[in-house]
This record gives sequence, C-alpha cells and structure tokens, in this order.
Amino acid sequence: MGRLFLVLLDGKIYSCKHCQAHLALCEDIVSKSFHCRHGKAYLFNKVVNTMVGLKEDRMMMTGLHTVSDIFCVGCGSIVGWKYEAAYEKSQKYKEGKFILERFMVSGPDGSPYWANHESHAGGSDPDDA
Ligand SMILES: [Zn+2]
Repeated sequence: MGRLFLVLLDGKIYSCKHCQAHLALCEDIVSKSFHCRHGKAYLFNKVVNTMVGLKEDRMMMTGLHTVSDIFCVGCGSIVGWKYEAAYEKSQKYKEGKFILERFMVSGPDGSPYWANHESHAGGSDPDDA
C-alpha cells in the first residue's frame, strides 16, 4: 500500500469516526432530515476522501433510486451512499449528492477527534545552572 494523500478540509468538519479522514463540511449540508438504518443521515453537496462503489437500484421510502455506497479511502468503511439517479421527479434534487450516515462520522462538535497531537520527542533541554 502506498501512502495515502488525504484531502484536508478547513472549517466545521465531518470526519470518519474510524480513521479521522475528513469527509465533508458543515456548510455543504443540504438537509439533515434523512434517515438510514442506523438513524440520522445528512445530505451533502460534496464529500472528499471517498471511493464510490457499484451502482445499484434501491427502493427507499421516497421511491426507487440508483445509488452507490461510498467508502472512506482511509480505512475502507462504508460511510454513506451517493444518489446517482432518482426516478421520482420530486426527488431529482438528490442526484449527484451524497449521504453520510451520522452514525458513521464524527461531527464538528462532540468527540475530541480534532485534538492536536503534540510531540515531545527529542526535546531535551539540559538545564545547566
Ligand atoms: Zn476512515
């Protein structure tokens, strides 16, 4: 495996709860009123550091959609899905947008995932008096 170069976001960030890869920004949220099997899910205009899986048709509460699961590039976890196509006119706005399952990501407030890791290695200052 080569070294991964992850995109770094700046601002209020949602990140992978397993490997802390940045996934999306608060300001790109389209809607917080989505639900998935684990509970809440958010719709985003764009996400980063994800791989898109195979397309499949899925019957949802709002009708038939073609979706692809999206995976974190840092650790391979499924973090949500992408709407490739919607068949109901009223659902077309979702096409090309992304769902992140709230259960799978760390939010901008809450868990201390954003703590800086300060290195104290090699800093020996002999105190000669
Ligand atoms: Zn991850």
